[in-house]
Parts: sequence; C-alpha cells; structure tokens
Amino acid sequence: MATITARNLEVAGYTDRGRVRSVNEDACGFHADAGLFVVCDGMGGAAAGEVASHLAVESFIQYGREHRAESASAEALLRESVLAANSAIYQRAQRQPELEGMGTTLVALLLEETEAGTRAWVAHAGDSRCYRLRAGKLQQLTLDHSLVEEQVRMGRLTRREAERSPYRAIITRAVGTTDTVEAEIMHMPAETDDLYLLCSDGLTRELQDDEICKILLAEPDVQLACVHLVAKANAHGGRDNTTVMLVRVR
Ligand code: CA
Repeated sequence: MATITARNLEVAGYTDRGRVRSVNEDACGFHADAGLFVVCDGMGGAAAGEVASHLAVESFIQYGREHRAESASAEALLRESVLAANSAIYQRAQRQPELEGMGTTLVALLLEETEAGTRAWVAHAGDSRCYRLRAGKLQQLTLDHSLVEEQVRMGRLTRREAERSPYRAIITRAVGTTDTVEAEIMHMPAETDDLYLLCSDGLTRELQDDEICKILLAEPDVQLACVHLVAKANAHGGRDNTTVMLVRVR
C-alpha cells in the first residue's frame, strides 16, 4: 500500500488522567508514514488496564508498520493488526496471572492512498469512538459495542436513557480478554480538510457531540484543539481518563 507522508497530514494526540482517577488506563499512538492512528482504553484490576492499552497501541502500530507492504489489503492489515494486539495482551495475561482478564477498547484509523484518492479505514472494538468533521458537521462514524447501544438499536432504550444508564460502561467487545477478537471495520473516501477524531469514552461521557463540534470549529490547530477538548472534559468533571487524537487530511 502507498502511504500518506507526514506532510499531508496534521496529527495530534493527547491523553489525560482526568480529575478523579489515580491512574491513566488510556493510551494512544500513531505512525504518520504508515497512516496508522490508534486510541485504546484499558480495563482490568490493579495496573492491568494500563498494561493492556499500552500493549495494544504498541503491537497494533508495530504490526501495521511491518506488514503494510505485504498485506493483501488495507482491511486485512487492519484485521491482522487488531489480532496482533489481541494476542499480545492475551498471551501476557496467560504468563502473568495477576493480569488475567485484562483487555482494552481499540479505535483505529488507517489512511490509504489509492489511485482514486485517499481512503479512510476505521476499525473498532468497544466504546472508544471515531468521529469525522466535514464541512462544519460532526458525524459519529462508529457505533459503540456496548450493552446500552445494543438496547438502543433494538428500541428498548432511548439515546437519553442510555446516556444515564448505570450499565452504560459495559462493553460487548474488547481486545485481549479472550484468544481472539473480531474488529468492526468500515471504509469511505477521505476528502481534503476532513478532520478525524479518535477518542475514549472519557471525552464522550463529559461532552455532547455539539460541544465537541464547537471546539473543533473554533480551534483550527489540531494540537490546541486536543488540549481544549481534554480541558473541557475535565471542566465538566473529568470523571474518567480522557484521550483524543486528531488527524486532518491535507
Ligand atoms: Ca474510559
């Protein structure tokens, strides 16, 4: 696969412990030349969540970078990179029983340069999200793999009820908790000036989509926009770790 080099992109990522939690179990990373960007939100007792999210980011990026040239397609590469992250976590937990059951959400963006233009591929498992800001409008691209989202889709809960549900933190898909995982993958053409946001639920629990949109529209600098998003989440309570990554296509 061809790549988008760093000069065609503006990228920034920012992760913060928040105002309540004593540790940050989120992690994020990217490799601009490989067009790979990822945010993970770990879970598990003791330090396990932190281990899981960092392992996932490292192994996802490493696998994606090393196998990019030989992979059959962008979709195959994403699928295999998520599986590599899954194996890294699952195998570590097998070796260290105190880490048993650890896992992480994962949301990733892969930008592929094709003859027809740039394609955006999004993979996710869990409730970390990908949004896209285009022509002033913010659109949520991923649907959470969570108990309440499934109930909303079945018509058993309204979106408002879901946001307030005591069960809203229960996710139905995760990386590393079992020996395999199926990431949900989608793709679409990317346009110049598209802004992609990858984030953990620390952001979306504290901020409504219109508040996120307002900040992104007000601050064109991706690094400052990341800082403003996290600051706003903290101003609203910062009850969870918050991680944001912004990628603008130039
Ligand atoms: Ca979280």
